[in-house]
Amino acid sequence: MKGEIFSIDNKAEELLNKYGFENQYPLKIVSLANAMGLKVYYAEFNDSNIVGAISKKDNPPAIYINYHDNHTRQRFTVAHEIAHFYLHMNNDDVPEIIDMYRGGDYSKEEYEANMFAAALLMNADEVKKQYHLLEEDIDLIKEKKLFGDRIYEELISKRLASYFGVSRIAMRMRLNTLGLIRSV
Ligand SMILES: [Zn+2]
Repeated sequence: MKGEIFSIDNKAEELLNKYGFENQYPLKIVSLANAMGLKVYYAEFNDSNIVGAISKKDNPPAIYINYHDNHTRQRFTVAHEIAHFYLHMNNDDVPEIIDMYRGGDYSKEEYEANMFAAALLMNADEVKKQYHLLEEDIDLIKEKKLFGDRIYEELISKRLASYFGVSRIAMRMRLNTLGLIRSV
């Protein structure tokens, strides 16, 4: 599993470098989609279980994101659909993918798309760098002494979530995947 995550991180960096989006925090994810030739639209889906979709039936190909979702959720959805486009739609067998809100019951493609989206929005090296910078933050050290690891990890996640333009839960999962915090 570790090897897989490593290669997803590499592929995400490859994509960022290809279009000149490395070292940008928060990442301008819609601009990246546009640079890849994808249009991004807000949509009112008929089925309220739909979080987003990507379609190559449109010309140019298009990403649709749920208009009602909050900003960080929408950013993650764009990254997730970019991942499908980049990893799973290279032949014409898959003209369209529609994503639903769901629990932990993921296919390999969904797992990959989520990992890739996280790697795009939260570059591994940058997460580690920012995490270690926060370890030297006097206020956070005080909080850690007063309230313990759990509150400390929550505060770190909150600060980094705003730095990367992601939700706090997405940030916690990424920190956990990278072995920096214990709980999600
Ligand atoms: Zn998906």
